[in-house]
Amino acid sequence: MAVRYSYLRQQFGDCPELWEELKSFVLTGDFTLGAPLKEFEEGFAKLIGTKHAVGVNSGTDAIKLSLKALDVGQGDEIITAANTFVATVGAICEIGATPVFVDCNENFCMDVGIVESVINERTKAIVPVHFTGYMTRMDKLLSIAEKYSLPIIEDACQSILAELHGRQAGTWGISGAFSLHPLKNINVWSDGGVIVTDSDKLDSKLRLLRNHGLVDRDHVKILGYNSRLDTFQAVVGNWILPQARQISNQRIKNATYLDERLGKISQISIPHRPSDMRIVFHLYSVLAHERDALLEFCIKRGVEAKIHYPIPIYKQEALVPFVGNRRFEKTDFLARNSISFPCDQHLTMRELDEIVETVQDFYAT
Ligand SMILES: *Cc1c(COP(=O)(O)O)cnc(C)c1O
Repeated sequence: MAVRYSYLRQQFGDCPELWEELKSFVLTGDFTLGAPLKEFEEGFAKLIGTKHAVGVNSGTDAIKLSLKALDVGQGDEIITAANTFVATVGAICEIGATPVFVDCNENFCMDVGIVESVINERTKAIVPVHFTGYMTRMDKLLSIAEKYSLPIIEDACQSILAELHGRQAGTWGISGAFSLHPLKNINVWSDGGVIVTDSDKLDSKLRLLRNHGLVDRDHVKILGYNSRLDTFQAVVGNWILPQARQISNQRIKNATYLDERLGKISQISIPHRPSDMRIVFHLYSVLAHERDALLEFCIKRGVEAKIHYPIPIYKQEALVPFVGNRRFEKTDFLARNSISFPCDQHLTMRELDEIVETVQDFYAT
């Protein structure tokens, strides 16, 4: 029995009511910064529990525009996680700033205990990444940021509805960045992103930045970007937003089941699941003996496991100018030993069991 990784065809294959919504939307011609976008932004802010939400054209731009709004630029250093997806680093570099990496802990996220040692007079902001669905230790990071008066922009692209001490990802920093990319937990049919913030000032500036700095049709107040969330995608967003809680609940349920069963296999090690954290499992990653051989075995059996990511971003060719020969031990360890299995809301019990049995069979041979 095959277990696919992508569930997009299941998710969007049979949604006649969404097609009806899209059809009537097209007839309005309200394509740019239209009414459904405003509705989506209000719904998103409500879901996360912030005062504002600003729709932009990707999660990458959600980070980039947040940095830009804080006047970060050439020569500024931004502290971020060595263990992340390329987008975090791309956003920092695109505005001319320099990424300064911090190794992760066993929960895939920035080891907050190291942060103070890399702060200097050039440091302008901290961008923690809530990786795989875990959360960075924001309580500790917040007190460091306050001590040095540094703003925090949370990369929450993989962790929508994750919580630490009951407080959601994206609500700790001056702003939080989310992605609506098709492969993210809350997704639309193309690229999309959202910035959340409680600051009125930041909200106004972000709205200018995403729309060429236009105050109105004829007046440009600051130079900005073309980075609006498509109103068409906002219609899709409005359809999926009411399902957000249920989607994360089901992922947590599936992960709990896999933890319990895979945890009985001695060659598999389940990462610590802290009880003060709500982990939303954008990725379900565990540590495995003979990881590469297990991956190959799973693929052969039709169980579509993946590695996130085989080469850490900081080791990529493009990052050599910033990193040189520095190595980040924990990040490297996870890149060598972790494997991700499907964990999404559309999996059946039978498919979850097939994942477990495939792993069992590999170690039994
Ligand atoms: C997906 C992702 C982003 C950016 O998302 P896009 O919407 O694809 O631009 C940023 N950071 C992390 C950690 C991500 O996983």
